[in-house]
Amino acid sequence: MKLTFILPAIGKKKGQKYIGTWKMEPLTIAVLKRLTPPDIETELYDDRIELIDYDTQTDLVCITVETYTAKRSYKIAARFRERGIPVVMGGYHVTLCPEEAERYCDSVMVGNAETVWRQMLSDVKNGCLKKRYTGETAEYDVRPDRSIFAGKKYLPVSLVETGRGCIHQCDFCSISQFYCHRYHARRHELILEDLRNTQYDYTFLVDDNLVADHRNAMRLFEEITPLHKRWAGQGTLSMAKNEKLLKAMRKSGCEVILIGFESLNKENLQQMNKSFNYALGERNELVKRIHDAGIGIYATFVFGYDNDDERTVEDAMEFAKKHNFYTAAFNHLLPFPNTALYRRLREEKRLIYDKWWLQKGYHYGELAFHPKKITAEKLSQLCRDARKEFSAPKTVLSRGFASLHRSSPLLWWLFWGMNLRIGGEIDQKMHIPIGENLDELPK
Ligand code: SF4
Repeated sequence: MKLTFILPAIGKKKGQKYIGTWKMEPLTIAVLKRLTPPDIETELYDDRIELIDYDTQTDLVCITVETYTAKRSYKIAARFRERGIPVVMGGYHVTLCPEEAERYCDSVMVGNAETVWRQMLSDVKNGCLKKRYTGETAEYDVRPDRSIFAGKKYLPVSLVETGRGCIHQCDFCSISQFYCHRYHARRHELILEDLRNTQYDYTFLVDDNLVADHRNAMRLFEEITPLHKRWAGQGTLSMAKNEKLLKAMRKSGCEVILIGFESLNKENLQQMNKSFNYALGERNELVKRIHDAGIGIYATFVFGYDNDDERTVEDAMEFAKKHNFYTAAFNHLLPFPNTALYRRLREEKRLIYDKWWLQKGYHYGELAFHPKKITAEKLSQLCRDARKEFSAPKTVLSRGFASLHRSSPLLWWLFWGMNLRIGGEIDQKMHIPIGENLDELPK
């Protein structure tokens, strides 16, 4: 039996083979590869970096679906199903809207695949594939098998999973929704084993909120320290309240942390249910503490809440420049299916597209709803301009030299590559037609 994994791109412009943007190893596929019995042959097509061979001889196609890639996933599935090859789909989007995905494939995997993967493969072998498999959320103590990535060019950064989910309930967050607002820590011995076996010098700890449980995070950082690793991860501003944690984090090799500031506006933070960011008190002081600990910040902001206008985007830009963040993202809000945000905007009749992810002609950078104080077009433009401004050579130069003292030489070099590249790619990415260019979506 042969199994073909596919990771779809978000879409491609006419005649475009690859998308020039960050391509990290798709860790989920390495986990599924580990769970696949060795007598099953496997192959991977990463649509972001290579062309899919639709004539490949295979017995089963497995597609990992995100909301951004849903339309393209459904089109890819249709090409294989035309040949009578069964297609199984899993991933965040499938869990958030299984009924939709079921229309375009033979079977869906809801939740985490680990506990049902082998059963599904065995059912395929026995000709009794079910329409739906539902996996347990907390079971994922599996070491990834990266041999599936052989011969593919990814960013030279090792990805290691430390936990899944988050305790917070930000209204736009599909991750929190997926894990029902709970955090599931991974067993430390497995994390350490993965870290000992990393291929590259730099590691990204794939966890949406690494510091969701301070005690667990503290223990983990102490255990990582003797491995002499350098790593980046994602956390919340609250970690700066705990100076011991911050110190342990830096000592364990943390050099950059992604923090979702989202907004500087109190009412916006309340509306998105992230008022803990505001309640933490003096934001500037907390940022200073993280920087003083020797950790750089990748700051993210989101715009489109009811108090947003041109001024709030300018304020965020001023704040980001003032603190010389390692890098920053200025995103417009996007209502992901089944989130509290999506439900609210639909009730308020403010969605421009009911299902933007399936909408014909919808492109990256476009708003899918009407903001209150500004037009959708204007906000899209402001976000694009803010990204462009923050990654303009002049701004990058001044940030680079201002943050030199807290960067290792490797991180410093990465800084230039990353920031200048982001600047060059913004317009390229802005107009990618979501889901295109493939055949029409099957009815
Ligand atoms: S803190 Fe981050 S991961 Fe947690 S719910 Fe909010 S946006 Fe999602």
